This record gives sequence, C-alpha cells and structure tokens, in this order.
Amino acid sequence: MGFFSWDCKGCGHSLRSSCATSKTSAWMNQAVVYKEGSKMALRGEYDGYGNIGGDPYGDDDGNFWEGPKFTVYHKACHEILGKPKFDGQSRGSHDQGYFIDDNFDPAKPKTLADLAYLRDTGDAARERTREAWRKICADGEKRRAEEAVVLSWMAAELGVVAS
Ligand SMILES: [Zn+2]
Repeated sequence: MGFFSWDCKGCGHSLRSSCATSKTSAWMNQAVVYKEGSKMALRGEYDGYGNIGGDPYGDDDGNFWEGPKFTVYHKACHEILGKPKFDGQSRGSHDQGYFIDDNFDPAKPKTLADLAYLRDTGDAARERTREAWRKICADGEKRRAEEAVVLSWMAAELGVVAS
C-alpha cells in the first residue's frame, strides 16, 4: 500500500510523512487527531501509512481512519487555533502527504495570519497536484497503449502470443 494522508483543518496542507519533511517543515509531521464524539486527541508523528505516534491503538486493525469520522490538525495549527476538537471529516490529501508540489517547504506557522497564508497556498497547491496526477495517469495510459502495440507487433513478427 502506498502513502496516504489528510489535509489539516487549520492550514489545508497535508499531514506529511516524516520522509517528506525537512528541518523547516518538520512541524507538518506532528499530528493531532480527534475522532467524532471523542474529546481525547491522538497525538504524535505521522508515518505516512495511517499510523500516528507509533499506532497507540496497539494493533493494525485499530487504525484511526476506520470507524468514526475524524479531524486532522498539524500540532502547530491546532495550537494557533486555540485547540479545537472534532470539526468534521478531514479531506484526503492529493499529495498523499508525500508527493509534495514544488518541494513546498513552509516554516512553522506562528499566527493566524500565517495560517491564512498557508490556506491560500494550500488550495493552489492542491489544484496543481491534482493536475500533475491527472497527467501522470494519462501518460501511464498512453504508455500502456504503446506497449500493447509493440507487444502485438512482436507477437505477429515472432509468431508467438504475447502474455
Ligand atoms: Zn496545518
């Protein structure tokens, strides 16, 4: 299974895998998550595969994204916002918390103005990432079509059936 993630309700950017952050953007790996109906937060580093803080629920069947809806915040954004709790389901991240548009590497936000700036860049980045994936998928389709042509040509030339 590949990387996956969710966008922070505060800044709109993804909760990142630790291998997609630098010293500057290390804050984007620190999560606070509230499940619907729970006042207790799940906190810690996000591993890029759905586990926070080393999966404190103890087993792989207890991952937080299964079951009730949940809100994801970066720890830094959560603090700036005055530590809100559950606030609706967080949307899935187009960059999967790993494939970061233009190596966007923002410094830790400190004020509401910082958050507003990040939200603006987040929406634009989300759109660009969506476009980039659309192109990658289209290129993949094209390549598979070309390969199919080559394979059928080879099969005809060699008198074999392509597997
Ligand atoms: Zn955030």
